[in-house]
Amino acid sequence: MSDCLFCKISRGEIPSRKVYEDDEVYAFHDINPVAPVHFMLIPKLHLDSLAQAEQQHAALLGKMMTLAPRLALEQGLSNGFRTVINTGKGGGQEVFHLHIHIIGGGNIPPMVKRD
Ligand code: AMP
Ligand code: ZN
Repeated sequence: MSDCLFCKISRGEIPSRKVYEDDEVYAFHDINPVAPVHFMLIPKLHLDSLAQAEQQHAALLGKMMTLAPRLALEQGLSNGFRTVINTGKGGGQEVFHLHIHIIGGGNIPPMVKRD
């Protein structure tokens, strides 16, 4: 998926503010943050969304879940943070390359607004 925005970002073809990189994952600040700290952690492997994740991706996804709190701490979120994965149109996903939002600092509102 060479024309995918986040693939291009992870390859350095589109600029981003890098948080972390290794051979399998890339993390970068969101261009339109919803909180003082808002970055995304993505696999370099293109998966459209979590709906495409299969058993063969379990180690990679597990690595991302354990990396998230470490990166959050490095970004100053010692008091906690929110992780969000939007999946598919019904989940509000806008960029179709699997990503974990890591959000914190300031006032984090309730996750879902109840009437
Ligand atoms: P989602 O709605 O879960 O697909 O989230 C996509 C996120 O990508 C949004 O929070 C956007 O602000 C963010 N975004 C879109 N383009 C860029 C970009 N070029 N660099 C950094 N973040 C981006
Ligand atoms: Zn991609």
